[in-house]
Amino acid sequence: MDIPGGLILDPPNLKPWRNVPVRRYISERFQRPTAFQNDANAAAFGESWVGCGRGLRSFVLFTLGTGIGGGIVVDGKIVEGQHSHAGELGHIKIEITSSRLCGCGQRGCLEAYASATAVVARVREALAESGQTSSLGAFSTFTARDIFQAADAGDRLAAAIVDDTARYLAVGAATVMHVLDPDAIAFGGGMALAGERFIARIREHVPQFAFPTPAQRCEIRRAVLEGNAGVIGAAGCGRLLLHR
Ligand SMILES: [Zn+2]
Repeated sequence: MDIPGGLILDPPNLKPWRNVPVRRYISERFQRPTAFQNDANAAAFGESWVGCGRGLRSFVLFTLGTGIGGGIVVDGKIVEGQHSHAGELGHIKIEITSSRLCGCGQRGCLEAYASATAVVARVREALAESGQTSSLGAFSTFTARDIFQAADAGDRLAAAIVDDTARYLAVGAATVMHVLDPDAIAFGGGMALAGERFIARIREHVPQFAFPTPAQRCEIRRAVLEGNAGVIGAAGCGRLLLHR
């Protein structure tokens, strides 16, 4: 990719450990201080700043979309980790035998079971198995939203897949509780738009997997900024930079 101004990014030759000075480039180009942040981290920061995590000391967000992203905010700061890989919540391992392949190349990640893409794949696989019937079988294509609607309308296969998805996400939430024990864990992104009933299902499953105290006290919430969380969070990161 040739960016006007002389900086050349050459993806085929990029190594994972090679730093690309995007922030410095933009800052020099526009002569402004520049914040640079991962989208899910920015969304977590947005929810923590003015959304469902407002006023909390420690807050974690799972973003449920085609993949699963995550972000951790403690004392007003995004926890980025020593190597910028903290908060990769979609790659919490929830299964180590016969496990599904994740987009990251490993197996058994939460994302491979509970992202919108994975939910559709799991329904397709269930439909292909003998004896499984569903209203969704009449359609050549369907989305995670269709599956949630079918579950609400009483489709048993869809309801079972949705409940298993809530259970997988509860395992992810419990893991976060055991690592960080935050004030609250929220779920956002396209699939959380399925609504409070889905979040309530996750909440119900958490005590099976978490220690009793965090299971009782760590709140499971639905994110409120919807599609704006990332851009609001990015603005918040920029604001922090200016007021540092
Ligand atoms: Zn993964």
